[in-house]
Amino acid sequence: MDGKEGVLIIGGGIAGIQAALDVADQGVKAYVVESTPSVGGHMAMLDKTFPTLDCSACILTPKMVDVGRHPNVELLTYSEVRKVKREGRGFEVEIVKKPRYVDISKCTGCGVCARYCPVEVSDDFNAGMDVRKAIYVPFPQAVPLKYTIDEEHCIRCELCKRICESIGAGAVNFDQVAEEVNLNVGAIIIATGYKPFDVRQKKAYGYGKYPNVLTALELERLLSAAGPTAGHILRRSDGCIPKRVAFVQCVGSRDSHHGYPYCSRVCCMYAIKDSILLKEHIPDVDVTIFYMDIRTYGKGFEELYQRAKEEFKVRFRRGRVARIYEIPETHNLVVRVEDTETGEILQEEFEMVVLSVGLAPADGIAELSKILEVPLDEYGYIEGADAKIDTVSTKVPGVFVAGTALSPKDVPDSVSEASAAAMKAVTFLRGRK
Ligand code: FAD
Ligand code: SF4
Ligand code: SF4
Repeated sequence: MDGKEGVLIIGGGIAGIQAALDVADQGVKAYVVESTPSVGGHMAMLDKTFPTLDCSACILTPKMVDVGRHPNVELLTYSEVRKVKREGRGFEVEIVKKPRYVDISKCTGCGVCARYCPVEVSDDFNAGMDVRKAIYVPFPQAVPLKYTIDEEHCIRCELCKRICESIGAGAVNFDQVAEEVNLNVGAIIIATGYKPFDVRQKKAYGYGKYPNVLTALELERLLSAAGPTAGHILRRSDGCIPKRVAFVQCVGSRDSHHGYPYCSRVCCMYAIKDSILLKEHIPDVDVTIFYMDIRTYGKGFEELYQRAKEEFKVRFRRGRVARIYEIPETHNLVVRVEDTETGEILQEEFEMVVLSVGLAPADGIAELSKILEVPLDEYGYIEGADAKIDTVSTKVPGVFVAGTALSPKDVPDSVSEASAAAMKAVTFLRGRK
């Protein structure tokens, strides 16, 4: 197939995966460039999804497998777009494949190498609450299920190379170098997603200082049966099960001083979801959600909110949390909150506090916007062509955007946008023919 008939998708989260599948199902070649070793994005880290409380992996994993196997999809994982040049009818794209030091055509994903590797590194996928080896797969359902050596931490003892040779695979190759891949494509979809708001900027909440202050993404990993505690909710300070847990809403969102002025759209719903899941994990836990406004705008959202209140007895307390401090003897946390209705200052003690982090533009998005000559909006997300009637086109003909690369949103909206972007990209190609 002529490369100019193909579509490049940058980012392999749920939006990028869906866009690739829809492009490919139209008989058009889709190239997915993903900067990490596996597709999946943030959805792979979630335990269950609101409002139905379905298992996140049960929805995502089949799509990851489909995108890995589709004859019209080429996955370029552990890769980044370096240059893009508009050329005639399409784009000339230069991609750099970072060296994995593992030949993916030989690696069977057996994982024996990781058992022998002596280096343990904080595991990003488990929000730093577990360790992985210097040779690793980010998570067991990774696509492709191929190991990668983390260059920064590897001590080059070559134990992995020897063990891999001894089992006959011979996949480890320390001579591997970065590889340049050149593609000609007719359209591009940006699906580079978001990063969670950096809570360390909110010093008053003590994240990083007090062990029992967690981010919601960390809680997602604790809730997951495949997570670092096999689904047990344990305090970092003493491994005990917390009996009083608080959620603090709008951390980094609706906050012009220490965060972003916009609403991140997903945090109310994921806090409601996680409060119910907490109650299912620890039936006698008391859960309080400190909020400014509860926003349950989608189908089935208000119903889940009502269930949380009535069936699960989650306590919703209106107020802006000003400060969290620790009682050193117990590592319990005192939440100091201003009731926004009465102006009253309240203090309550909890055994664990979960920060409902907002969504922020992904790292590297500014550089990508320069490479593609696509403008960013005032917050640093990709600017859509028209917020009223065409969110998935950008101001550059042939370049489209989907999911949280455009603005904060949940999985169903990211997927719908991805399908729309795929349709626009294929229509653009066919229109040019
Ligand atoms: P991402 O998941 O961020 O994927 C983007 C991908 O692009 C990543 O794989 C990334 O590595 C890659 N990438 C980034 N930059 C580049 C680059 N320059 N080159 C190549 N690749 C790149 N939503 C729900 O619907 N239900 C829930 O229950 C839910 N719970 C949540 C709980 C928490 C704590 C949080 C923080 C969010 C939750 N969400 C939930 C929101 C959900 O995570 C997002 O809607 C969804 O992940 C967006 O998908 P995406 O593909 O747009 O972005
Ligand atoms: Fe198995 Fe070798 Fe791949 Fe490691 S690098 S998973 S030992 S085949
Ligand atoms: Fe681990 Fe690196 Fe040694 Fe391989 S060479 S076993 S990745 S430390």
